[in-house]
Amino acid sequence: MKNVSSIKDCYGCGMCATVCGQRIIEIRLNDDGFYEPHITHPDKCTDCGLCTSVCAFFHNERSAELSPIGCYAAWSSNSEIRHKCSSGGASYELSRHLLKHGFKICGVKYNPETNRAEHYIAKSAEELDASIGSKYIQSYTVDAFRAVNRNEKYLIIGTPCQIDSFRRYIRLFKKEENFILMDFFCHGVPTMHLWDKYSQWVRQQIGEGEFSYVSWRNKAKGWHNSWVMNIGNAKGNKVISIATKGDMFYRMFLSDTCLGKQCYENCKYKYDKSAADIRIGDMWGNKFRNNEAGVNAVISFTPIGEKLLNQTETLHIEPYKFKTVAEGQMKTSPHYPSIKNNVMDKLKSDDCTLGDTCNIVLPYIQRQKIKRLLRHPLRTLINRLRKALKA
Ligand SMILES: Cc1cc2nc3c(=O)[nH]c(=O)nc-3n(C[C@H](O)[C@H](O)[C@H](O)COP(=O)(O)OP(=O)(O)OC[C@H]3O[C@@H](n4cnc5c(N)ncnc54)[C@H](O)[C@@H]3O)c2cc1C
Repeated sequence: MKNVSSIKDCYGCGMCATVCGQRIIEIRLNDDGFYEPHITHPDKCTDCGLCTSVCAFFHNERSAELSPIGCYAAWSSNSEIRHKCSSGGASYELSRHLLKHGFKICGVKYNPETNRAEHYIAKSAEELDASIGSKYIQSYTVDAFRAVNRNEKYLIIGTPCQIDSFRRYIRLFKKEENFILMDFFCHGVPTMHLWDKYSQWVRQQIGEGEFSYVSWRNKAKGWHNSWVMNIGNAKGNKVISIATKGDMFYRMFLSDTCLGKQCYENCKYKYDKSAADIRIGDMWGNKFRNNEAGVNAVISFTPIGEKLLNQTETLHIEPYKFKTVAEGQMKTSPHYPSIKNNVMDKLKSDDCTLGDTCNIVLPYIQRQKIKRLLRHPLRTLINRLRKALKA
């Protein structure tokens, strides 16, 4: 069989379900809490091979071997927009510009009914608002990707693996010229078991019913301290929980202890590796270390991406070297943490609270910190010895 039936623990991008003409592929959460294809009627498979041909996980190489063309610090010239967005508001300004030029925008919003992040299509500035802000969970793509009309113009925003599959898809149908693809420097996505447990904890805090909005980042205390969860409901009950004060979602997510299998083992998209026209991110390096309004790192990989950046008048851009723009970004995948299985078991178990899981992650984080501190002087010593030996 040439279908995705044997594919497990993949990127979960949903492209196979999108392209399947028989509509027999569903994307479901697997036991570890990550999206994965499931063939509902194997007998109806025609062996056409479309599902594997658009799958970025199935292919060892990326759909495009691109190198950075332009590297910039960027931010919205509208201070209100800049304040609302996670970094500098580049994705919003590029989207707004393209909306004015007849494009639709396929980005990600939080859906309170399903309590998950979902791709959706914005056709107006009002509809675009829901895409503002990073949602640090894996997005469900299939409904939106299926609704994309390949004969119309779209900006597609997603994780680098989602975008790699999307390029395979539009190339297959010879429709690349209708699309602009944008990804971001991606840390990895955490298991939905973390999100479920965190949601349970939030419900206990706010007391009454479901919450209706979630915001993962907030610049009230500045961009560098913007790892703030703000979750609540229409009655005004809410939880505001800050990473620096031990927020449990961020403690788990940023410790890299519960990411997707492929985020550790098979990410082909770190640092300067992308299949997108444009890559965005936080410009965390030294250059803007005192800036608290928020600055995007922006890289163009194709002439289309470069042209868009230069044409978007509401986006301020400043050119820098790639190394400066990407300073602080991960160059390789995170190491598989020794406590990963233990963490996953606890997140899956109904008998464990999120607090229980955090209790095993905290000592791990502290051990990692000590290792890093020791490694630094050791590396300096080795470098000095090397230099002395060469001299
Ligand atoms: C899971 C994840 C990991 C990330 N890791 C890094 C990292 O390691 N380094 C770094 O510099 N930046 C990372 N980012 C990107 C960063 O958080 C900002 O989104 C980015 O800098 C854009 O900022 P902005 O101000 O332009 O837009 P924002 O206002 O943050 O808009 C975010 C854009 O991303 C899209 N989006 C939001 N959530 C998701 C999602 N779950 N899946 C797909 N698309 C989504 C939205 O449609 C919107 O267009 C990550 C984002 C996510 C979602």
